[in-house]
Amino acid sequence: MSEVPYFLPLEEAINLSLKHKLSCLVEHVSLDNAHQRILAEDLHSMVNDPPFDNSAMDGFAVRHEDTQHPPSTLKVVATSQAAAGKSDLSLVSGQAVRIMTGAPVPNGADAIIPIEACIISGDQVTLNQPSKPHFIRKCGENIAEGQLGLEKGTPLTPQAISMCATMGHPTVPVVQRLKIGIISTGDELKSPGEQLSYGEIYESNSYGLSGLVKMLGHIPIRYPAVHDSMEALREQFTIAAQECDLFLTSGGVSMGEWDFVRKLMETEGNLVFWRVKIRPGSPPLFGHWNGTPMFGLPGNPVSSHVVFRMLVVPYLRGSLGTNYPHDRIVHARLNTNVRSTKDCLTLRRVTLKSTDEGFIANQPKHQGSGNIDSLSSADGLTLLQPGQSGEAGQLIQVLLL
Ligand code: AMP
Ligand code: MG
Repeated sequence: MSEVPYFLPLEEAINLSLKHKLSCLVEHVSLDNAHQRILAEDLHSMVNDPPFDNSAMDGFAVRHEDTQHPPSTLKVVATSQAAAGKSDLSLVSGQAVRIMTGAPVPNGADAIIPIEACIISGDQVTLNQPSKPHFIRKCGENIAEGQLGLEKGTPLTPQAISMCATMGHPTVPVVQRLKIGIISTGDELKSPGEQLSYGEIYESNSYGLSGLVKMLGHIPIRYPAVHDSMEALREQFTIAAQECDLFLTSGGVSMGEWDFVRKLMETEGNLVFWRVKIRPGSPPLFGHWNGTPMFGLPGNPVSSHVVFRMLVVPYLRGSLGTNYPHDRIVHARLNTNVRSTKDCLTLRRVTLKSTDEGFIANQPKHQGSGNIDSLSSADGLTLLQPGQSGEAGQLIQVLLL
């Protein structure tokens, strides 16, 4: 045990875990199947967007100089609709072309008059104001052919998917989804829906962790909770190691007699480190079982969630060579005293209120690491560095949940 790094600063723990990276495979999927996936390579535009100068309004395409002395009456010579095959329209001085939003601007025109500003009579249009040289969306003004549109690691949100399509990509390279096993451990655990006997509680960690895995675009495999026994854990670890790219356990990693996850990893697994300087959530361990990386997360529900965010997320980010998910961090002024620690990064749950002076952080509920209610109602976690006091009035960083 003595040679295994113990109670490490967070950065060191992350760096150690990243010496055992997961391999990142790339697959190509259609845009319909790309939602919530992670872009695996930089994506450049295959076209100019827009591909041609077009109108931003329904109205008339004109020559700017023809409209400088209103009222000006022009002859309507053609119509440009948003459709192919109309690229050869043109006009000369004294003429206007009726134009629809998105339709190509005729040759010779350099301004669009919105329909609201026009009086139409037969094949004539009268304008009572000078045209302005806008309402033309210039070829390539959104993105030019060959330009970088989306960076590797971008989560494919609905707006990013639209961007892929605009750039002309029918399929996109994405990170192959990882299978991430989740094993809860503890004799006291029952599934919601079952009857609780005295001393038992509902198992909640695996559901929360499964949600976090899905949020990152991977595949959770939630195994049934395992009893506190070396045999049962050994069996379940072996199955998970075979079926998954990575597996997470919750519970059984502290100093207690019943903390068999730690004991099993110490004696039969490949333990890389144990305990990290974060509060809550200091007991986690990392190692591998039969060659498959695993994180042993603490059993307390808040701790398991916090450790996933602080340790597993950076591990996945680093392993996959992406910057997703970004940590979303804001500054907020503490409205209440928050208990910090001397040697740990302190991650208290706070709610945020937006005010004229910026965000105000409150800690309305008790901070026991078993109190999932205070996590589910929180907006963020304080990022109080070791030794940083958490007095009311301080401007601190908050990691958004
Ligand atoms: P442990 O780390 O196993 O000592 O567990 C610490 C605390 O977390 C105990 O109060 C456990 O009952 C509780 N706990 C452990 N696993 C879970 C779980 N999967 N869901 C909810 N609570 C849990
Ligand atoms: Mg336990």
